[in-house]
Amino acid sequence: MLWTKGWYLRPNPKKSNIKIKPSYLLWFALFFLGGLNLFLFWQNLHLKEEIVSLKRQIVTLELREKELETQLDQLEKENEELLQQAVGALRKRTSYVEKIIRQLGLSRHFGALHKKALGGPYLPPQKEYEILLEKIATYISKFEKVPLGKPCRGYISSYYGYRRDPFTGRRAFHAGVDIVARYGAPVRATADGVVYRVGYSRGLGRYVKIKHRHGFMTVYGHLRKYVVKRGERVRKGDIIGYVGNTGRSTGPHLHYEIRRWGRSLNPLRFIRAERRLAKVAKVVSAR
Ligand SMILES: [Zn+2]
Repeated sequence: MLWTKGWYLRPNPKKSNIKIKPSYLLWFALFFLGGLNLFLFWQNLHLKEEIVSLKRQIVTLELREKELETQLDQLEKENEELLQQAVGALRKRTSYVEKIIRQLGLSRHFGALHKKALGGPYLPPQKEYEILLEKIATYISKFEKVPLGKPCRGYISSYYGYRRDPFTGRRAFHAGVDIVARYGAPVRATADGVVYRVGYSRGLGRYVKIKHRHGFMTVYGHLRKYVVKRGERVRKGDIIGYVGNTGRSTGPHLHYEIRRWGRSLNPLRFIRAERRLAKVAKVVSAR
């Protein structure tokens, strides 16, 4: 063990008698400290360089972040615009369906929904979009209960309203439309319902009357024969009879009427509404 006394460092005289001059130790220390200093200086330089490079990286990252932020902003804006466009398109479609509802005189029946207008408090587009989509889907499902479309293939030869009677030649009210079709062509129910009456009358010939929901009734006349019984439940598209020439008829055709709460309506509107609604339904169900 080394111990010091005065300017001299000497080993334990009991163990060794070698003397070390303090100047050696001093030189060594100086040399060592110098080296250390040099090393620290070098390391400091190196660290400084690293700091500069890191600072540079931070600046680039900040710039990149800003760039990304603006890109994100732009995307959000574009997204918003797309959503607004979609909402606009859906609004148009909804008002189109509502127009059909009005034209068919069904405003009151569809009314509960109809009146829940989308005015008033501001709605975020996402919310409005969902509401409109639900609304339009409800309209379309309600329309499934309404007699729509043609009961048989063929062209319309006589329209609803006043016309010259083909038998008497006098002005008379025609309560339905006449569809000229091949003799024996199938006649189908235009909506779900229950057969209210089947029979024969001088005017209508063999006929079928079907009662539907919401006060609707459809009448199919001049049939060659009918294939349903009174009280029978029918689905839209079911064959109920075949085109004939019975009753006051000048050739094979179907006389088709739509009544609501006992009043006759223009079937042409309901025939056309099916195609008009199908377009909207396709768009809605595609989502
Ligand atoms: Zn007719």
